[in-house]
Amino acid sequence: MRPQILFPLFANTDVLAGVGPKVAQNLEKLGARHVLDLLFMIPNTLVDRRSRPGIANAIDGQIASFEVEIEEHVPPPRRGLPYRVRAHDDTGFLTLAWFHGRPDYLLRQLPPGQKRIVSGKVERFSGEIQMLHPDYIVTPQDADEIPAIEPVYPMTQGLAAKTLRKAITGALERAPELDEWIDPGLLAAKGWPAWRDALMALHQPTDLHVLDEDNPARCRLAYDELLSRQLALAMVRAHRRSKPGMPLTGDGSKVQAILDAAPFTPTGAQTRVFAEIEADMAVPERMMRLLQGDVGSGKTFVAALAAARAVEAGGQCALMAPTEILARQHAHSLAPLLAAAGLKLGILTGRDKGKDRARILEQLKSGEIDVICGTHALFQEGVEFHNLALVIIDEQHRFGVSDRLRLTQKGARPDLLVMTATPIPRTLALAVYGDMDLSKLDEKPPGRTPVTTRVMPLDRLEDVISRIGKLIQDGGRAYWVCPLVEESDKVDLAAAEDRYHDLKARFGDRIGLIHGRMPAPEKERLSQAFKNGDIQILVATTVVEVGMDVPEASVMVIEQAERFGLAQLHQLRGRVGRSSQTSACLLLYKPPLGEIARKRLETLRNTDDGFLIAETDWKLRGMGDLLGMRQSGLPRNRFARLESDTDLLETANTQARMIAQSDPDLSSKRGTALRQLLYLFEQDQAVRLLSSG
Ligand code: ADP
Ligand code: MG
Repeated sequence: MRPQILFPLFANTDVLAGVGPKVAQNLEKLGARHVLDLLFMIPNTLVDRRSRPGIANAIDGQIASFEVEIEEHVPPPRRGLPYRVRAHDDTGFLTLAWFHGRPDYLLRQLPPGQKRIVSGKVERFSGEIQMLHPDYIVTPQDADEIPAIEPVYPMTQGLAAKTLRKAITGALERAPELDEWIDPGLLAAKGWPAWRDALMALHQPTDLHVLDEDNPARCRLAYDELLSRQLALAMVRAHRRSKPGMPLTGDGSKVQAILDAAPFTPTGAQTRVFAEIEADMAVPERMMRLLQGDVGSGKTFVAALAAARAVEAGGQCALMAPTEILARQHAHSLAPLLAAAGLKLGILTGRDKGKDRARILEQLKSGEIDVICGTHALFQEGVEFHNLALVIIDEQHRFGVSDRLRLTQKGARPDLLVMTATPIPRTLALAVYGDMDLSKLDEKPPGRTPVTTRVMPLDRLEDVISRIGKLIQDGGRAYWVCPLVEESDKVDLAAAEDRYHDLKARFGDRIGLIHGRMPAPEKERLSQAFKNGDIQILVATTVVEVGMDVPEASVMVIEQAERFGLAQLHQLRGRVGRSSQTSACLLLYKPPLGEIARKRLETLRNTDDGFLIAETDWKLRGMGDLLGMRQSGLPRNRFARLESDTDLLETANTQARMIAQSDPDLSSKRGTALRQLLYLFEQDQAVRLLSSG
């Protein structure tokens, strides 16, 4: 249960003065449903209104405030001209101007002969000093209604800046003083303010540096945020340790059978990583391991070995993929290996219904199926395992910590292996996978041909199409990827469909279109047809990003490549170059290409090293985009900037681990404060772990 002291912060915003249903609705558009969300809304910029230069000394383009005497109102002489009000101070004359000004209102605000303080942006032209649409007009008695330094927040239509600021002020008034959760030594060493003071500094700034990277108030809030996440991860980890799983060992026969059946020798990296996994599985402590390996580094083979190990130990293995197509792809590539070891393989996805599903469920429950590939459907209500010993999740970046938690609650505390093809810089790994151990497949299997990457403008489309034409004649295979541009499936689909029809008009039946909204059986049919060559050009939205393994495909065309994340492009490119024939990746962009976009595409052209690509992308675009848009398991940060707050993150990680050791139930006084911190940043699931013991 949430501590009572936080209740005022979790009330809906409409408890605040000046916030009715309409305003509340607009606030929600900005992501603020609760009072707390307002406190956590960060100003974009600060406006300095302290300058009181006197009219004559005002600088063009600057924000300034003047105490003026109003002279006269001058309605617009004709349409299209502004309504003007003339005013002066001791130094000179000022014209206030409004387009579409309402005379009655302005007359009330600015009665001739009276004094007012006005604040806004000054413009000077042809000798005249003007202020168009002043931001503030107040009487001299109300001078302090104009903030000296004004925070400017993100805006949404229909919500006045003033209303938002007022709501935030109201939120600050409701913010309780909370007991300190930061280690006192650390707090003193850093010179950080208390939580509430930090929020005050942010929303009612007294200096212009509060948004700076090294500002103590900002750092404190960023640290709070990072600490809450790291603590949650540390709790998950500690919880896992407190409840041992089963030690999985075996006689090695099934693992050996797979090694014998493989048409290749494992790479050094595969052998090393499997040894790490084997060691984890052998001890009673539950495995939580993240396996990172670039596209094509051979993760699936490692998964097969781990599955065989689990079965040797008398358990079952579930392999979960983010999409149905990928689940089937996995099953397909695992089948020969597992068969050689005498393991029974099953598939379960959302598509399996009725009798089929019932049969699979029965076989899972009885233990007849050893290894099951599937989607989320694997972990739904009604799915029971005989003895689930190992869960493998592919393409982890689509799952968050809470999913991870839920998944491993199934069965008798199975070991967990997460596989991802996204190379993750250390900071990010810490932020998202702080509770996991890390293995890397840093060596590619031999026999792959480097892919030639070319970057070209869209007006070279004809060249590309004729190249594809030749490829078709020679019996080759190509992917043609159309981007998710509009963030609406519908519009994007239309673009992909257009391209499909274009190409179809040129090349006839040997073209297929595959996209995310397509029913799964249809998708599977198409990918199968592409595999066996009935279809030679597969036009696709990004569904081919993961999983497709068609060695015959040697060309990857990506339209509007500048729209994709580099990691995503790298993944897509990894779909070709899977055989001995020479392969190409053609990145088509829509000019003009900005500086950063050009650098990004160049990076891709110059290197095939996934880690280097990820680091570069990260530096060029910032962390959020690295994992490809919003599906990433990456938490949305309000205060912390992962690209630059590396030190804070490291400190938070160390502190969190210390806390998890010294006060695992958060029962000390500081522990109680830390629980509040967890609630503030919505890490409730971690608190629940505490109460469940
Ligand atoms: P990932 O899942 O990491 O992208 P896969 O496991 O799909 O990579 O492997 C890509 C291809 O490489 C598959 O066709 C697989 O059979 C092959 N492969 C895996 N390991 C090796 C190896 N050690 N030597 C040669 N080929 C391998
Ligand atoms: Mg794979």
